[in-house]
Amino acid sequence: MKKVLILEDEINIRSFVVINLRRAGYEVIEAGTGQEALDKLRETPDIGVAILDIMLPDIDGFEVCRRIRATSKQIGVIMLTARTQEMDKVTGLMTGADDYVTKPFSPAELTARIDALFRRIGGDNTANSEMLSQGPFVMNTRNHTLEKNGSRIKLTQVEYSILKLFMQNPGRALSREDILDAVWGRDYDGELKIVDVNIRRLRIKIEDDATSPTYITTVWGFGYKWGI
Ligand code: CA
Repeated sequence: MKKVLILEDEINIRSFVVINLRRAGYEVIEAGTGQEALDKLRETPDIGVAILDIMLPDIDGFEVCRRIRATSKQIGVIMLTARTQEMDKVTGLMTGADDYVTKPFSPAELTARIDALFRRIGGDNTANSEMLSQGPFVMNTRNHTLEKNGSRIKLTQVEYSILKLFMQNPGRALSREDILDAVWGRDYDGELKIVDVNIRRLRIKIEDDATSPTYITTVWGFGYKWGI
């Protein structure tokens, strides 16, 4: 059974999420504090998706996300935000979250986001071992790993999916909508901004100088292009 961790200190919201996710067929692990969530993730390494509230009594959800990402790039992370400020979303994504859901949310919306994340995490099972090699980059599509000049670069699942799309389409301008559809899925109803934030993060990891990118270049008013 697919395992989901829900970190939320408000018991009413947590119970509501737990009931609905169990009904949707997930095994749900609960945590009420950031530390409890980190402990449970350590005890249960096969948790596929973690849902993190931001305002918590001990360490905030962004810090929990940072600590999860320090040890695992594989797990999917969804931030729960009570506020609608862009900063929250951007901060969450920059700490390594894959997606965010704004409170109040419907059970259907949350399960749709979790389902989409599980599809992305497990979506490459049909691919044979394949190396994509371009310039200094070597991508292994079975292990989901990337090397630049022989050194491993750690990517989140979303960053990996975006880079794979680029490496499969060298020299081709991809619109932000193309990237959103390919990576998040056509049924994803989030904002295009999520593409830009992930590209910004990816550039920091792979470019020689993220302030003047040469591999992922911006096609103004349209999207991005991969070139070596
Ligand atoms: Ca809270």
